[in-house]
Amino acid sequence: MKYFILFLCFFAGFSTYEANAQLVNICTNPATQQVMLGAYDPATYLATTVINDPNTISSGLNSRVSPDSLHAYLDILKSFQNRNTGSDTLSPVKGLGAARRWVYTKFQQISAQNENRLLPSYLQFDTTICGITTHKNIFAVLPGTDTSDKSIVIIEGHMDSRCAGLCDTACAAHGMEDNGSGSGLVIELARIMSMYSFNHTLVFLVTTGEEQGLYGAQAFASYVQRQGIKVKAVMNNDIVGGIICGHTASAPGCPGYEDIDSTQVRIFSYGGFNSFYKGLSRFIKLEYKEMIAPISAVPMTIDIMSAEDRTGRGGDHIPFRTLNYTAIRFTSANENGDADVTNPGYIDRQHTSGDSIGVDINGDGLIDTFFVDFDYLSRNTVINGNAAAMMGLGPQTPDFTLTTSGGNLIINITQHPEYLNYRVGVRTTTYDWDSVYTFTGSLTDTIWVDSAKYIVSVASVDANGVESLFSKELLTTVHPVNGVPALHQPAKPVELLQNKPNPADEVTMKSVLVNDKISYKDAYISIRDLNGKEVKRSNITLNDGVNEIQYEHGYNMSGTFIYTLVIDGKPVESKRMVFTN
Ligand SMILES: [Zn+2]
Repeated sequence: MKYFILFLCFFAGFSTYEANAQLVNICTNPATQQVMLGAYDPATYLATTVINDPNTISSGLNSRVSPDSLHAYLDILKSFQNRNTGSDTLSPVKGLGAARRWVYTKFQQISAQNENRLLPSYLQFDTTICGITTHKNIFAVLPGTDTSDKSIVIIEGHMDSRCAGLCDTACAAHGMEDNGSGSGLVIELARIMSMYSFNHTLVFLVTTGEEQGLYGAQAFASYVQRQGIKVKAVMNNDIVGGIICGHTASAPGCPGYEDIDSTQVRIFSYGGFNSFYKGLSRFIKLEYKEMIAPISAVPMTIDIMSAEDRTGRGGDHIPFRTLNYTAIRFTSANENGDADVTNPGYIDRQHTSGDSIGVDINGDGLIDTFFVDFDYLSRNTVINGNAAAMMGLGPQTPDFTLTTSGGNLIINITQHPEYLNYRVGVRTTTYDWDSVYTFTGSLTDTIWVDSAKYIVSVASVDANGVESLFSKELLTTVHPVNGVPALHQPAKPVELLQNKPNPADEVTMKSVLVNDKISYKDAYISIRDLNGKEVKRSNITLNDGVNEIQYEHGYNMSGTFIYTLVIDGKPVESKRMVFTN
């Protein structure tokens, strides 16, 4: 959604949701419905060669997602001229009808290349939008190999486009950034993920009617609810290819006109930071960090945003969320929106004029950019695919209890079946986990922590090393041992603060607070193991206030260490820190 007026349409749309829920939503391929319900024999759709190793899939996604493929899809989507929800449905070359038949055919082609394992379908629904009464989402289902847990994973993007007029079907509404980018991402993931096998069923969904009030997503969400289809997660992609900041892109973000950002993407989701929605966002980020970042040529930063969407905007994740499905939205760091068509310098690259012109960078007669950066879009496609793959492979989420004893946090897994490994995500004050570590061969783990508030959640890890989504979070306060607060002793000239995070998995920050100006010759922090052997010494410059040094312990190291601030050869203060992996 783009214009402020659409904000109003969006709420108008809300009032019609109840009515929509009564509408007949027809799934045109009954086999897809049976698969989404888990009522099928997985052997029917089993690949001749099952490829389900998580590392193979992550590296396959990273190397196979292709900027050229994405470029080709957007070339074709552009050729339909106008994909307004009210546009032509009969023409073979123009309008939304031609576009959706192309997407359907594309899913059929992908299926044919993969032993017919990908099942395409329309979800047809009736409601009047821009003078059209019957509408079709397109989706494709990749059946899971294990029906014991029937929950599905949905990756989606809307394909309808618009100009300034809500129902203008005559303008050039190429909609490359909004939302050819998200539609292309879904098609590309269908192409690549169909080569692999997942325990859970994956659904690749391309919706219509988003711009007029999220109608297509609402139709699919209410269909899923009425059928009793279980949903593990929904990842909506809307504006995921642009890297240029426009005049009036929606807050938050976008620092200034024509700022370029090709290495950040934002995840918007509903609820507080201990909600399942934010938990899914953290999971997506963790899977990226552990599976893709180490092998990616251009690492991305994933920002977990506070709000459900940009200010005054909405998207296809919202109808799913309002029906209590765990749904989030990906959006570029920078977008090129322009809210006011009466602006003298009005440029609307997301939807119309800029898209229709594009830029031929190398003068070969081919348009090289639609204000979508195909390398950036590729990276976002990999982030989505990797998260969907791990959710598609991963085990059941466990339950747990959290208690404290002295300076210890005690984590007790209560839900069986028992897995060999569990992961623990620990947060203190930040939105993301301060630390995620693994414990093995037990249902109980005890960690020493400093006195503070801790927010903890857990995940199961299967035999292939894939974690489940994380559980609900539990919060506890660790009280100071023997009544002595560990932090902020009464004013000393120099204080060594507790490292953050602690426990840490790889990297932690150690800080020295200088309360009074001091004069000294040299200062360093010495780290020793519990046998007293020095493992690292780092010089530190002490200015007034907080002085920080980052310490990288390295991957796959664990243990308890003592770190000591030494000024002019005299130990000033020591603290304990824990590395868990
Ligand atoms: Zn959009």
